[in-house]
Amino acid sequence: MHELAVAQSIIQTVSSHLENKNIRKVSRIYVTLGVLSGVEKGALLESFSLMPKQTLFHTTKLNIKECELVVYCDSCKRQSTIKNGFRLQCASCGKRTSRIIKGTEMTIDRITYE
Ligand SMILES: [Zn+2]
Repeated sequence: MHELAVAQSIIQTVSSHLENKNIRKVSRIYVTLGVLSGVEKGALLESFSLMPKQTLFHTTKLNIKECELVVYCDSCKRQSTIKNGFRLQCASCGKRTSRIIKGTEMTIDRITYE
């Protein structure tokens, strides 16, 4: 499962970020998941819970915020949020567009620790 690799990379990223800091445990990791990131929320949560955890991550909670797809239309210079499905289409004029502003990324936004 692809999400296992993602969960592992989250742990690695956070570990290296907190290296050399005097931390007892990581409480929460806040992640934003774009609808087109290719990562499924439920699967990622499950994968995260399956990770063999070092002491630091023993009780860590993963908070996942999902981010909708936002596209930009060159014709009417507007951004639209795609609510239904993944059709890359402007909500104002109906033209198709391939300019994606948001929704394909997976980012670690915040980490809380003790
Ligand atoms: Zn438009």
